[in-house]
Amino acid sequence: MQPRDLSDHVAYEAGRGIEEVARELGRDPSEFVKLASNENPHGPSPAAAVALRDAASSVSSYPKAAHADLTAAVADRWSVTDDQIWLANGGDGAIDYLHRATLEPGDDVLVPTPGFAYYGMSARFHHGDVREYGLSRADNFAQTADVVLETSDGERVVWITSPHNPTGSTMPLAEIERLADETDDETLLVVDEAYGEFADRDSAVALIEGRDGYDARDDVAVLRTFSKAYGLAGVRLGYAVVPDEWAEAYARVNTPFAASELACRAGLAALDDEEHVERTVETARESREYMREHIDADARVWESEGNFVLVDVGDASAVAEEMQNRGVIVRDCSSFGLPACIRITCGTDEETERAVETLNDVLADLDVEPDAAGGDDADDGETAVDSDPEAEVSDT
Ligand SMILES: *Cc1c(COP(=O)(O)O)cnc(C)c1O
Repeated sequence: MQPRDLSDHVAYEAGRGIEEVARELGRDPSEFVKLASNENPHGPSPAAAVALRDAASSVSSYPKAAHADLTAAVADRWSVTDDQIWLANGGDGAIDYLHRATLEPGDDVLVPTPGFAYYGMSARFHHGDVREYGLSRADNFAQTADVVLETSDGERVVWITSPHNPTGSTMPLAEIERLADETDDETLLVVDEAYGEFADRDSAVALIEGRDGYDARDDVAVLRTFSKAYGLAGVRLGYAVVPDEWAEAYARVNTPFAASELACRAGLAALDDEEHVERTVETARESREYMREHIDADARVWESEGNFVLVDVGDASAVAEEMQNRGVIVRDCSSFGLPACIRITCGTDEETERAVETLNDVLADLDVEPDAAGGDDADDGETAVDSDPEAEVSDT
């Protein structure tokens, strides 16, 4: 017997870890720094690490109280009702829940390209079809309502990533509102704010709740995660904030105890440790400024509101490989459809300085030609295309 026809599906290939790379190159792991998966260079909140240790002895029970407590704490943080918080196994789990709650077989989902691969993967798991809207490199990947509306055509779900991975661009709330107004009545707009803490922008929760002069609406949801600013990628914890009208659906679509006891306890402790998040955000701001100022002027570094920057190095696979040989693991963005670009995660001061120095040396030694002026090697998304599953490899 065989599984169902999965030929439309592709495996998720996560960024490679230090251990794996060191073993392959026959080197010591301590020689490497990994700036490839947008992880927190300061690690988890120390309070969360303590909570994890303390929770270890109670993992024989299902996480009933912890789940309820974390839901209440997150709801409080956003001033919404508990029912509007859909906890999940990572932000990725929340993507699944939103698709489970919306998609009938054959419904369309609209996703950005370049963009985060899991939207499309998840849509296909839920028997949806995937269409793409292009962010144009020539426009510095600007996100406006019109960019999406050019392609949008009655999809059930439209994904906005703000700040956007891997480019760092954002969509202003007024544009998100206009987009929600102009898409079909039955279109849910999901604003993925996985990097929201790092951005100098207001959350789209204001649109759901009708705050700051916006009208409340039932067609926008927001995705958040503990993986990035909170440094809890390893425990897998994220959530969606949904309109009041959607509150009851969660009980019908979630996997029982969506977040584990360990994840919930770590999340509760991390939420209380504001100092850790502030320090993390401050480090990311300094790091991205440093990279913009000090990376060789021939290599374009886009402005970013995330904890990473996108850099045009001319030949991403050659440059990423050589940087890795010299101990700095960065993300080759070829699989995002940006074969000239690498993405560098914001590290500690020391890690950032090492990454910049290594990159500048590699650019000088390899004699590749980055494109500071901004030619157009990427798909600039003039036309709507059915997405090609082969092109979607990963990733965070
Ligand atoms: C990291 C990330 C997520 C969520 O990741 P999880 O680790 O599953 O929480 C969601 N969207 C984008 C764009 C991301 O980069």
